[in-house]
Amino acid sequence: MAKKVKKMKAEQEEVVTFHYDKVGDFSNWFTEINKRAELTDQRYGVKGLVVFRAWTTVTLKIMYRLLEEDLEHHGHLPVIFPALVPESNLIKEAEHVEGFAPEVFWCTRSGADNIFDEPLALRPTSESAMYPLYALWIRSWRDLPFKRYQSVAIWRYDTKMTRPFLRGREFYWIEAHDVFATAKEAEEQVLEDLAITKNFVQGHLAFPIIVLIRPQWDKFPGAVYTVAGESILPDGRFIQNSTSHMLGDNFARAYGVKYVDENEEEQYAQQTCFGPGLSRMYGALIIMHGDDDGLILPFDLAPVQVVIVPIPKKGAKKAVEARCLDLEVILRKAGYRVHFDNTEKRPGEKYYHWEMRGVPLRIEIGNREVQDNTAIIFRRDLRSRNTIPLDKLVKAVKQAGKAVTKELWRRAKERFDNSFKNADTFDEICDIINQNKAARISFCTLEMKGLACAEKIKDATGADIRGVKLGENEKPWGLCPMCGEPATVVAYVGKQY
Ligand SMILES: [Zn+2]
Repeated sequence: MAKKVKKMKAEQEEVVTFHYDKVGDFSNWFTEINKRAELTDQRYGVKGLVVFRAWTTVTLKIMYRLLEEDLEHHGHLPVIFPALVPESNLIKEAEHVEGFAPEVFWCTRSGADNIFDEPLALRPTSESAMYPLYALWIRSWRDLPFKRYQSVAIWRYDTKMTRPFLRGREFYWIEAHDVFATAKEAEEQVLEDLAITKNFVQGHLAFPIIVLIRPQWDKFPGAVYTVAGESILPDGRFIQNSTSHMLGDNFARAYGVKYVDENEEEQYAQQTCFGPGLSRMYGALIIMHGDDDGLILPFDLAPVQVVIVPIPKKGAKKAVEARCLDLEVILRKAGYRVHFDNTEKRPGEKYYHWEMRGVPLRIEIGNREVQDNTAIIFRRDLRSRNTIPLDKLVKAVKQAGKAVTKELWRRAKERFDNSFKNADTFDEICDIINQNKAARISFCTLEMKGLACAEKIKDATGADIRGVKLGENEKPWGLCPMCGEPATVVAYVGKQY
């Protein structure tokens, strides 16, 4: 439960504030953060659908822009396809429709009684929307590679417990759908997708990812194989940031995506698709870096990077406010998202408000700072204060902003490195999962034969075989602890969101 604590703030006024125990009571922390930092509103009235409020949406848009720029840098162009997919298109790839059928929302009529000739699915993902058109657009080897993406919402009727950002029935993502002449090029694209994810997550969101090839029983319906970029939340659970799928020619055969090669022969194309889940990554971002006082946002992603709070003594209000306004102009000109909090609230209330929202830097200006031509810079991550001369302000903000992001990365990396433990026996796997960590085990196989072993682990612990590290060729050290057969891979096991 939330503890009500009275804190004495620097200016000796009493402020009633709230403090949440993130590690000991994560569920309450997450619920309260959503409310108090005004991230989402869950009173929309439909289970699994939440409203993203402004503070969330500004960061989401920054995230979209960064990823879109990187995709375009790697040769993708944007498109926008309709959200409704005709049933006849959705059912063309048998495995695909079987995998998604239970989760599809259907539109079947307009008004009271105008029943559609054909039901329309609200896209759960867009292969079935896009590939019939790809079949018309792609003609010759000269059209390849063909790389397109769209930034949209998708809908899946998830029956598990829903939670804002982490599990919902509507989520925001980017989906890139690429077409190639050869399987080799398609497989290289899967690697490129994961490199894009890694750059984005590690570079901007400031937490580590692990890239895993999914077991055959957990791949994208209709794919040849699936690779996921995952992170580990502080409670030891995996969260999937993005997946990339090698589709081979499975979908090309179903949707007729063909090209004429250099010898004038018709070939089925090789395809990939890539889905970074932006709303889920945002959830990971706030959980990964937040503390008992609220969010802490990496400098590049904060809607407000620097908040300026005046702390005037009686009679000096004008001079302090004038100084704050000057600094706001200087920092805005230098390219920062800066906000001068000139409301009538007391300084302590302002501190609380902006700390809860994770603003990385705060500048405090009082009478002394005006007289001395200085400013106090407060860092949200360390809760530290530094006095700096005004002529060094822009440089100091730049350095402090970088330092906040670097410190967030350091903390996340340290936790990540302590998240994995090797297990040799079934009991050890159970122990590790119960300690909120991920287990590393020698495992028989990620082919369908291994499913029975995976199910035994799942039944006992609730944890899944998340996969095998991509490209690392880790050597198993023993027999599979579940079936006793020789192990072929090192698998990562953990609970997931
Ligand atoms: Zn086994």
